[in-house]
Amino acid sequence: MSIDQAKSQLMEFGRYAHGRSWVPATSGNFSQRIAPDEILITASGVHKGYLTEDDFLRISLAGTPLDPKTPSAETHLHLQLYQHYPAANCVLHVHTIAATILSDIAGPAVRFSQLELLKAFDGINTHEVDCTLPVIPNSQNMQTLAAAVEPYFSEPILPAYLISGHGVYVWGNDYPGAFRHLEALDFLLSCAIARPGIMQT
Ligand SMILES: [Zn+2]
Repeated sequence: MSIDQAKSQLMEFGRYAHGRSWVPATSGNFSQRIAPDEILITASGVHKGYLTEDDFLRISLAGTPLDPKTPSAETHLHLQLYQHYPAANCVLHVHTIAATILSDIAGPAVRFSQLELLKAFDGINTHEVDCTLPVIPNSQNMQTLAAAVEPYFSEPILPAYLISGHGVYVWGNDYPGAFRHLEALDFLLSCAIARPGIMQT
């Protein structure tokens, strides 16, 4: 994955996400792994619907910025995913309406089963599965958030988690994979809101 290709894909995703109202008011952040120990991530404070090639910075997996720009406050959560999942090469964080509403009312997890679109997630090839989507309590302290996420990595969860009243993180082996996961998840969360008694815990 070249840096130019990674930027191009994330700029394209930003325009799409803006069109879906997933990244209002400079919210959200996107990243891709560009080397085994290096990622490219959106800079802090930029509107994700109008990203230019100057709106990114490289950062080491250990958290050291490699370009003179301020990383997003939530960079730590991206790094945590890349460190835990060596196969993950793209992380997308957005504030969809469905994720924000459902994460606020669902309790500690959302469970999905018997839904055809679960097959959009890597490793799932039947609707006859029970899948857990954790809901992490929100915090402005990224260390606190990361610590709350950590226990879920030992469980078989979907490649995603919600942060309460905040939004959603998804990851994938590449950009198309992460994008597919996010699109499927937004559909499933929208279904869950429409039928809360059936899909929420
Ligand atoms: Zn956020």
